[in-house]
Amino acid sequence: MTDLRAALVAACRRLDGLGFVAATDGNLSCRLGPDRLLVTPSGRSKGELEANDLLVTDLEGRVVEGDGRPSSELPMHLFVYRRRDDVGAVVHAHPPAASGFAVAGIDLTEPVMPEIVLTVGPIPLARYATPSTADVPRSLEPLIDGHQAFLLESHGVLCVGRHLTEALHRMERVEHVARVDLVARLLGRPRALSDGEVLALFDAARALRGEREP
Ligand code: 13P
Ligand code: ZN
Repeated sequence: MTDLRAALVAACRRLDGLGFVAATDGNLSCRLGPDRLLVTPSGRSKGELEANDLLVTDLEGRVVEGDGRPSSELPMHLFVYRRRDDVGAVVHAHPPAASGFAVAGIDLTEPVMPEIVLTVGPIPLARYATPSTADVPRSLEPLIDGHQAFLLESHGVLCVGRHLTEALHRMERVEHVARVDLVARLLGRPRALSDGEVLALFDAARALRGEREP
């Protein structure tokens, strides 16, 4: 528990240091147990949070430990945990390049860089929903299964992972590919990997893990 509090605070500071959250933007959570989540408080700078500022809620969103209000995006976090048993952590931020794609209504589903294909997969665009409302989960409903990162139209980015590090690394990779994609668009047109190149990539990754061909 103490370790998870420290890890969540460290993740908040990293997001802040990377410039992925302005002012009090963004929110993070992780599972503590079958019916317990650790969640950031609402309206606080992620760079200034301490372990004691975090709240514990159940999967209905009821606060069971901590002072203040949990993130206004708790309905979005709860939706993800209820729908995805494989998810242990949720990170939401407004990184500038990826959020720019979200504002422009352009998804990042084309396989343009090998690392993204292997670690994140296609990044779809969830239609615009008013932040903090139950419309955010509704906008994610058609996409939640089978994706690990989402652009929230005219808003920001949501990443999920088995644990905090995975969700945070995905956020970093989404912003990185958005920057690369933007440069490629300025220089010409991004080249998507072919189906054959994607298959070869998964084969190579399996070989690196010492697995046999399927
Ligand atoms: P909270 O401060 O309530 O977590 O909200 C930040 C945010 O990014 C809303 O989308
Ligand atoms: Zn937001």
